[in-house]
Amino acid sequence: MAFEVVLSTNNKHKLQEVREILSPHGITVYGLNDLNLHPDDVEENGKDYYENALIKARSVQKLTSLPVIADDSGIEVAALDNKPGLHSARYADECGGYDNAMATIIKAVEGKDRSARFMCYIVAVNLEDKPLCFEGIAEGEIIDHQDGSLGFGYDPVFRSKETGETFSAMSAKEKNIYSHRALALKKFVTYLKVNGKI
Ligand code: IMP
Repeated sequence: MAFEVVLSTNNKHKLQEVREILSPHGITVYGLNDLNLHPDDVEENGKDYYENALIKARSVQKLTSLPVIADDSGIEVAALDNKPGLHSARYADECGGYDNAMATIIKAVEGKDRSARFMCYIVAVNLEDKPLCFEGIAEGEIIDHQDGSLGFGYDPVFRSKETGETFSAMSAKEKNIYSHRALALKKFVTYLKVNGKI
């Protein structure tokens, strides 16, 4: 059964990952550009990942009758009291880019607990009366240098507990099995299957 969904994001890396994860299940993922959708600029001022993902999903829900999903995600570093978390993108901006942000994190964990986790909340609207939410958590640690050239954001310093490699050193195929985004989307796919939508 064909199933179509819109991903509410301007992040081309997220769009690519979500497409690669969902397409093997026969799900077509449209980006905003594909459908010429131009949501108003929204402030991500939610108190948690769920609220931010919902804000993003709702901004596109007004523009289409297709199901819409949005991803809010971030990296939580134990030695930084689980920061930057919700503010991961902003933190990189404030540090002057990802290289600087990763260098700051590497320094902050020196001699401390290196545990870290990536969090992902996928919120889906236009499927049920209320929004649906699916959570994915990928556990790992911060290594002392950048390793790998793939992926995006904080991938080069995050070593997955599952594979022993950074998200940047593993292939896209592998990241899309073990990542926080993959784990959340797996639950979304299960929901679609159980409800006869795919
Ligand atoms: P937002 O969900 O668009 O607010 O941004 C999430 C931010 O968290 C990204 O811009 C990255 O900084 C970080 N992030 C989320 N997922 C990943 C990932 O899979 N790899 C690396 N960084 C990520």
